[in-house]
Amino acid sequence: LLGEDGSVAPTIFAEMSALAAATGALNLGQGFPDEDGPEAVLEAARTAISHGANQYPPGRGTTDLLEAIAEHQQRFYGLRLDPTSEIVVTAGATEALAATLLALVDGPDDEVVVFEPYYDSYAACVALSGATLRTVPLRWPGFQPDLDELAAAVSDRTRIILVNDPHNPTGAVFERAVLEEIVRLAHRHDAVIVTDEVYEHLVFDVAHTPIATLPGAAERTLAISSGGKTFRTTGWKIGWVSGPADLLTAVLTVKQFLTYVNGSPFQPAIATGLRLPDGFFHDLASDMKGKRDILGAGLEAAGFDVSPPQGSYFTVADAAPLGAEDAGDFCRTLPERAGVVAIPLTAFVTARRRAEYATLVRFAACKRVDVLEEAASRLRALS
Ligand code: PMP
Ligand code: GLN
Repeated sequence: LLGEDGSVAPTIFAEMSALAAATGALNLGQGFPDEDGPEAVLEAARTAISHGANQYPPGRGTTDLLEAIAEHQQRFYGLRLDPTSEIVVTAGATEALAATLLALVDGPDDEVVVFEPYYDSYAACVALSGATLRTVPLRWPGFQPDLDELAAAVSDRTRIILVNDPHNPTGAVFERAVLEEIVRLAHRHDAVIVTDEVYEHLVFDVAHTPIATLPGAAERTLAISSGGKTFRTTGWKIGWVSGPADLLTAVLTVKQFLTYVNGSPFQPAIATGLRLPDGFFHDLASDMKGKRDILGAGLEAAGFDVSPPQGSYFTVADAAPLGAEDAGDFCRTLPERAGVVAIPLTAFVTARRRAEYATLVRFAACKRVDVLEEAASRLRALS
């Protein structure tokens, strides 16, 4: 995980946000919103601090938040969870992923199947856990996995199939047939399914289907989500894992030595968010869909080929029509050439597959409309 000279290598997000700050370019790189989330959620955190929620919360999470997560899973997906044994609150989805991998895999003989490109912490956490990473490619432009390639990647050595749906960086929402195949393979090879659903409420024209709702899946699925994207509070780091009590005991055992507990005033605030009326969640998705459309149209007008996402904060575009040969070089010079920051997809793939993603670039749509419009107009100057 170290840089080539032995130093701490910044993540691609830290590198690109630093570039945005240094150059004054518009930051369509790192996926964080540039507007605050709902006032009721912010106010709940302020109130919690004023009312003394400033010491260690309970290890599994506050009772109120655990109940709010269970209510949310029931309201949106019809999933029934026991808040006392089937949910653990974590320091963001990031800690949930780390604790789950560290808890469930044992060493190089255990394999973790991941769809590639993948969110950067996946490969890092698999490496920390000592397990072996197996990847299944998601190819331009649709980014759905090939079912034969998926089946070939899963074997009796597979301990975990890790599924990020809706998907970062591609914006893909997996088709039902893909989800069904994942469940079938997990049964056949006795694997655990771990889902990362942090973009669950950011889907356009399609519904989000948690794998745990598929027949036979709940008993072997750990579902991870977080309040960061849904409530525009990415800095609060309130996440959670839900699923079978015995698996969660293992996750909690690791979590207590990673952070012990986290975010006491933010836990009641995220509980408030999870209890917001349906209209909030509906408006969130339609707002992001509008932004996706503005960004997509802007990228096309600038000469990129665009893969319209069905979910997430992101849009992937091919910079080859603009003469790009290497997305890393393209993104590192884009601030200077156009005053915009974006992320090369090569940051999300294994070295051996870099060539396949060489000209693809991820743009974040989770920014103000005026920022997206200004970025589109700057990018038009490229061609
Ligand atoms: N998984 C995915 C796919 C993400 O995009 C992110 C957000 N960057 C995370 C996990 C991390 O979420 P959190 O900020 O809640 O740790
Ligand atoms: N999830 C965000 C992204 O993909 C940022 C996460 C981070 O900076 N680690 O851009």
